[in-house]
Amino acid sequence: MGIRVTSGVSMSIRIGIAGIAGRMGRLLAEEAVAAGATLVGGIDRPEAPVPPGVTRFTDIAALAEAADVVVDFTHASAVAGHAAAIGAAGIAWVLGTTGLSADDEAAVRVTAARCAVVQAANFSPGVNLVLVLAERMAAGLPATSYDVEIVETHHRQTVDAPSGTAIAMGRAVAKGRGARLEEVMESGRHGHTGARKPGAIGFAALRAGQVVGEHTLLFASADEHITLSHRAIDRRAFAAGAIRAALWVAGRPPALYSMMDVLGMGDEA
Ligand code: NAD
Repeated sequence: MGIRVTSGVSMSIRIGIAGIAGRMGRLLAEEAVAAGATLVGGIDRPEAPVPPGVTRFTDIAALAEAADVVVDFTHASAVAGHAAAIGAAGIAWVLGTTGLSADDEAAVRVTAARCAVVQAANFSPGVNLVLVLAERMAAGLPATSYDVEIVETHHRQTVDAPSGTAIAMGRAVAKGRGARLEEVMESGRHGHTGARKPGAIGFAALRAGQVVGEHTLLFASADEHITLSHRAIDRRAFAAGAIRAALWVAGRPPALYSMMDVLGMGDEA
């Protein structure tokens, strides 16, 4: 079924989508139109078919020229180039792509000095609430008594592990404990690992079938277990959240915003 592109009321925010042929891109196009924005079109790899009725732009620079906000769900390898083009155009950017390297993250920060950027590993409102709760729980449950493990499951096409959301949960726990995630992360244990290190935050990733996204955060002491679980039933939750972020960020001053800021929970996590 084709996507009806709005004709563009003068005040309507112009949204362009990077990765418009992808699983997320197609939903983002539908959600942008449903939200009353003007969908100017999108970009994707030349061999990927864009949805019928949608304008395909030649590259990110051309898309950025035509849009107020680019919503980007592509691949980590595209992020540095997109950061440069968005920065040159001076427009807003909603970045959902995960699996970024430290260099990619640095490129995002450079762009955020010139443009309003919302970056989130997960745009669903429910996951962002879980992040707030995770930080609070970590602050109240001492690392000396409570081990933290994060288990996530995603569909078989997922290319990065642990998921961006799992890492965001780990960061929230580390923040609540006044620690740096990089110093306490234990991911993908295998073989003779030795006993669990005190204060470690463990990660395990399952890849199976067409699971949209499941995350469980476990706090375990010798006496009790507490779990926070989130299950995404439909990836439209991410798409609707990202379009909400696009409408929120258009016209804001340059900064690196989070989905917490969009949801009005920015000071809590
Ligand atoms: P997908 O593979 O279905 O779609 C990605 C699309 O991007 C594809 O159509 C691909 O052709 C296109 N693409 C790749 N490189 C490109 C480039 N250089 N220029 C233009 N287009 C390019 O994947 P997906 O499930 O839609 O996920 C996309 C990304 O979004 C992944 O990194 C995924 O982890 C992430 N994601 C984030 C959230 C969130 O809430 N932040 C939610 C779901 C997925």
